[in-house]
Amino acid sequence: MLARAGDPLGIRCRFLDPSPDAPAGRAAELVVGAYDDPAALDRFADGLTLVTYEFENVPVHSAQRLAERTRVLPPPRALEVAQDRLSEKRFLESADIPVPAWRPVASLADLRSAVAELGCPAVLKTRRLGYDGKGQHVIEGPADVELAWARLGQAPLVLETFVRFDRELSILAVRGREGSMISYPLVENLHAGGILRRSLAPAPRVPPALRARAEAYAHRVLDALGYMGVLTIELFQVGDRLLANEIAPRVHNSGHWTIEGTETSQFENHLRAVTGLPLGSTAARGASVMLNLIGTLPDTAAVLAIPGAHLHLYGKAPRPGRKLGHVTLRADDGAELDKLRARLEPLIPAGPPASL
Ligand code: AMP
Repeated sequence: MLARAGDPLGIRCRFLDPSPDAPAGRAAELVVGAYDDPAALDRFADGLTLVTYEFENVPVHSAQRLAERTRVLPPPRALEVAQDRLSEKRFLESADIPVPAWRPVASLADLRSAVAELGCPAVLKTRRLGYDGKGQHVIEGPADVELAWARLGQAPLVLETFVRFDRELSILAVRGREGSMISYPLVENLHAGGILRRSLAPAPRVPPALRARAEAYAHRVLDALGYMGVLTIELFQVGDRLLANEIAPRVHNSGHWTIEGTETSQFENHLRAVTGLPLGSTAARGASVMLNLIGTLPDTAAVLAIPGAHLHLYGKAPRPGRKLGHVTLRADDGAELDKLRARLEPLIPAGPPASL
């Protein structure tokens, strides 16, 4: 999606991915190699004007190695902060952004006392390499502690209060090379089994003060990191409060609707930001819903028979829980969108069970 956004701007992309089947290979040149293989990194970087990333688990030392040869944007420090849930929470707190109550956990004794302090339910998460609900275990009561430890205790962990949120939101913001900042309308997200299933945008029922708060949080994060490019903050809304769940230093699944649903997609704005071009308008074009295609694919003709439906297949082999593509449905207003959604949603195969 980045490569396709770059093409009309005259930006040619090359990708590094460990898999020869990476979908990027159909849109641009693909270098196949491990993210931490120095030879692959050198082959990849040869002749590039700049390097960016759209996956937050790229090893920081690889980004730093590339930064010795060419410009790497967003700055590798953003990776460092976002890769470890502990440093992420400390960073958010230092920027005065509320997060769910949390405790670091390095031993079974730590876990027992963290559960006693935070109460139940609580969520135990690996500090690193968790995504789409992987590396997480909900502790409903003290009896679950042993099992949670047996499942995840090999890695450094963090325990968080389980937040009874009203809904999940995300804010996507962009910072340009000269420090200008702009954000997209707030997005309402629904997860099932820890995986994003649906994004609704602009999120309905957002009072101006809530939007202003989310924007202020995003801008503080962008400024503190000296960031360039698109960054996403996943938020829990509880009444008029927003708690930050996670920072993604990249274009984000909850922003895929921007391809059809805004003046300038997140992919184009990311490329504009890192290459020093003026940022494009983030204004919504009507109302959109994005549905992820998880594990199985719907009937293409039935989806495309719905006015305003746009299908994006990634060409990945089907596997349970795997994101195989998405559909964005765009309409002129929320009422029209609701009518069309009622036709589209039954066509999309059910995802995993609605639990963490
Ligand atoms: P994460 O990988 O941290 O983004 O978590 C994936 C999803 O799990 C989130 O989008 C939420 O739906 C849910 N989740 C994660 N942490 C919590 C929490 N502390 N309280 C409630 N739900 C959570």
